[in-house]
Amino acid sequence: MKKIAILSGKGGTGKTSLSASLILAFCDRTKVTALDCDVESPNLNLLIKGQEVRSPEMVFVDYPRINEEKCNFCGRCARVCNFNAIVIMKKQKKTMIWDDLCHSCGACLELCPEKAIEMKPFSVGEVRFNQFQDTRIITGESDIGKMMPDPVISKVLSYVSDEGINIIDSPPGTSCPVVKSAVGADHAILVAEPSPFGIHDMKLAMELLEELKVRYSIMINKSSGNDSEIEKIAANSDVSILGTIPFDFKGAEYYSRGEIERYYEYFKVQIDQIAEALAKELSI
Ligand code: SF4
Ligand code: SF4
Repeated sequence: MKKIAILSGKGGTGKTSLSASLILAFCDRTKVTALDCDVESPNLNLLIKGQEVRSPEMVFVDYPRINEEKCNFCGRCARVCNFNAIVIMKKQKKTMIWDDLCHSCGACLELCPEKAIEMKPFSVGEVRFNQFQDTRIITGESDIGKMMPDPVISKVLSYVSDEGINIIDSPPGTSCPVVKSAVGADHAILVAEPSPFGIHDMKLAMELLEELKVRYSIMINKSSGNDSEIEKIAANSDVSILGTIPFDFKGAEYYSRGEIERYYEYFKVQIDQIAEALAKELSI
């Protein structure tokens, strides 16, 4: 079993089109499980168009709730909360909890002298299950307005298969959800585009992967034919470039219409070369 995380320093670089293309490139030779961890904007299954195979599973997080009839408004819970998620208004005898700030650590619950706090489960997202040929596609999606992607990502990753390869479509950027989805991967592919913003954000993602000690390589997307700056950065960091997909209107049109099979056929030479290089890297 191998876990491959597909990352990009910034959104819109082509991470999901590569994830979907790799599913098509590998699905005839090994068991593939695709895990969409871009839970704030999951679109891998929109491209692959797998059929739903079982009902979605909701993801819950426990948040504290204060029973004001038992509470003495001492403020201890607010003082122990490292995330300023609780406010106690002693004079008004009122309590407030901001779920978006709460990390469900349970410290307030443990330290309340009146046992006035209970943890209650609240939905923060769901996980959906689709199938494309023999490939399972596990998609996480955060509830709108909920800023709690990590528990949804953890639930998606609980479906990593111990057979074949797992393709993990990570969120863009370098924030905590990216760390969550990439940590422990056998290999990461950093999708980069040769624009000034693309190169800037690629360097940040490289620093992150080095910090996480995840082995990785770079794939250049939307190449104009002159990728010398990315090549120089990769060479200086001793990172290999798995392959290149050119900037091309026809390919972009297939992608924007969600026609991933045509996109794959159109760039088959380049994508198969990336898949081969990856297979060699991972000894698949
Ligand atoms: S620690 Fe308990 S008793 Fe004190 S303010 Fe918080 S909920 Fe109320
Ligand atoms: S569970 Fe932890 S993070 Fe949440 S309000 Fe209580 S102390 Fe703060």
